[in-house]
Amino acid sequence: MSRLYNFSAGPAMLPEAVLQRAQQEFMDWHGSGMNVMEMSHRGKEFLSIANQAEADLREVMAIPDNYKVLFLQGGASSQFAAIPMNLLRGKKTADYFNTGQWSKKAISEAKRYCDVNIVASSEDDGFNSVPDKSTWTLNPDAAYVHYTANETIGGVEFDDIPDVGDVPLVVDLSSTILSRPIDVSKFALIYGGAQKNIGPAGLAIVIVRDDLIGDTIEGTPTMFNYKVQADNDSMYNTPPTYALYIAGLVFQWLKELGGLTNMAKINQRKAEKLYAAIDHSDGFYTNPVNPKYRSWMNVTFTLGNADLDADFLAQAKQAGLVTLKGHRSVGGMRASIYNAMPEEGVDALITFMQDFAAKNQ
Ligand code: PMP
Repeated sequence: MSRLYNFSAGPAMLPEAVLQRAQQEFMDWHGSGMNVMEMSHRGKEFLSIANQAEADLREVMAIPDNYKVLFLQGGASSQFAAIPMNLLRGKKTADYFNTGQWSKKAISEAKRYCDVNIVASSEDDGFNSVPDKSTWTLNPDAAYVHYTANETIGGVEFDDIPDVGDVPLVVDLSSTILSRPIDVSKFALIYGGAQKNIGPAGLAIVIVRDDLIGDTIEGTPTMFNYKVQADNDSMYNTPPTYALYIAGLVFQWLKELGGLTNMAKINQRKAEKLYAAIDHSDGFYTNPVNPKYRSWMNVTFTLGNADLDADFLAQAKQAGLVTLKGHRSVGGMRASIYNAMPEEGVDALITFMQDFAAKNQ
């Protein structure tokens, strides 16, 4: 059986080399006589896996020593609450950019714990852009500024790290983490769910500057307390061991591929050729996003004639190209092309789109 090109926004494709390695190690991890899922999280075998995963992530992202790396449960969505709980530190207000559906979710959760100042919003523009800097209303007294680097549903991303002065900067990097190098030292906190560029769903990663943790709001659940998690090496309770093991294999795969600089080149090339195919289709396909802010990871497009949507999806499936339907809230199509989507998968999609357009002009 051959594998499909799966354009899902997450859970998404994993690198084939990683799946093969996991398969080889499935019945007996390194002579332990066990699958990783069966190991005690406090045993030396699993601790070596967890320590290696953290060391490799630190190397791949060049994470400075004064940052803690936490491997947590509850997805990125739990962090929507944990961030205000840990980072308000006596303040009453936080700044949020509103650039799409995931920003909105982060904002509505934060409102349970503090006043939210919307720095800028692209909602009036249908979330097809990032608001121009001249419109930002940053509050210098905010506890932190939060933004969603890449809006997975709309396919919109910030083209640079926003300059917010001295206020701690927090980023939801769920759908763009590890796709290119990023200067971690510019951030107070980086977080993301694993199911796009890291590994299996169920794991979230938090990278937080160590001087910012330890002062939580009253009532913060122990599991949401970054200091407790950091002091316990993310093992206050039983961690998602198998997800962490697969994430570790993904980090090794990235290192073997030449790290994030090389990954960025491949990702940029993949995105550019797919957008070019859309833009050169004489309106058969359209992408509504301001080209400056087009996502490298989630390429959205609509067919000029929406009556053809069902045929497009059915024929794509027959060609081995699956999960191209856009998010239920926006419709149209979405091709998520994370790190593990091979360039050949993007090439196959482009060829299919061109053939489909030629047959249905
Ligand atoms: N933020 C972004 C940008 C996302 O794309 C997603 C998931 N699609 C989330 C947050 C929520 O992640 P999770 O399902 O892991 O809670």
